[in-house]
Amino acid sequence: MPPNIKPTTRSLTPEELEKLVKSAASSVSAIKNIKQPLPSKEEVAEEKKSAKFYLPVLRLNDPTQWDSKPLSERKHFTNEVAKATCVGKCCGYDGLKAGCCQLDPEDIEHVLGPLDEEWIKKTIKWFRKKGINVTRHDIVIDFEEGRLIGQAHFNNHPVFLQKDSYPILRIQASGIRFSCKFLNVSNGMCTIYEQRPDMCKDYYCSYVKSNFLVRTKNHPNTYKKIDIGNKEEEKEEKE
Ligand code: SF4
Ligand code: SF4
Repeated sequence: MPPNIKPTTRSLTPEELEKLVKSAASSVSAIKNIKQPLPSKEEVAEEKKSAKFYLPVLRLNDPTQWDSKPLSERKHFTNEVAKATCVGKCCGYDGLKAGCCQLDPEDIEHVLGPLDEEWIKKTIKWFRKKGINVTRHDIVIDFEEGRLIGQAHFNNHPVFLQKDSYPILRIQASGIRFSCKFLNVSNGMCTIYEQRPDMCKDYYCSYVKSNFLVRTKNHPNTYKKIDIGNKEEEKEEKE
């Protein structure tokens, strides 16, 4: 999920805070009890034939997937636009939510790593401050485990076989695909939004790059058409 989705900027009431901690706790308890059956190859093949959401999440980072909209037709990728897009019309598909927080067996865009050790330590502390006791294993997957997951479910994709890909965000089976453990798959929202890693904060898929003007770290007060391979087209627009 991209950086612009901020559910709220006001302080939470004690009731809301309690609800949030409970929701995070149930997410972590789910992490600790991964017993979800994984889909068989036949089930995946069957779903692929019928699932309208299977194909759109392939090749999220491929700039040739979407025509680049002219600047005059682009909207600023504001929080509202990001929310409407990413959790309701991801990649332009009605109802598709948070495609970049999920993986298909043939598509391993985004929701991986490597994560830095500092983020892992901070995240463990962040959970513990909320009274939720998590370990490194609850949050990330390291090489030995990831290699086996890659062999079993991602056709030995090289990303899973290389040590420098790790640590990666913990993933769980979710229907025919895998999702980040911290994704609420029902509403497409990140359950650790304020603590999500930089790779999530900084991520924009090719659809967003091709269709919107986005803020960048270096240009926080402007919306910029992101370079997707054609530097001559790169321009900036004042907010
Ligand atoms: S894939 Fe693109 S449109 Fe979909 S949630 Fe991610 S950034 Fe948003
Ligand atoms: S932490 Fe997971 S759910 Fe949250 S934005 Fe990153 S990939 Fe998505």
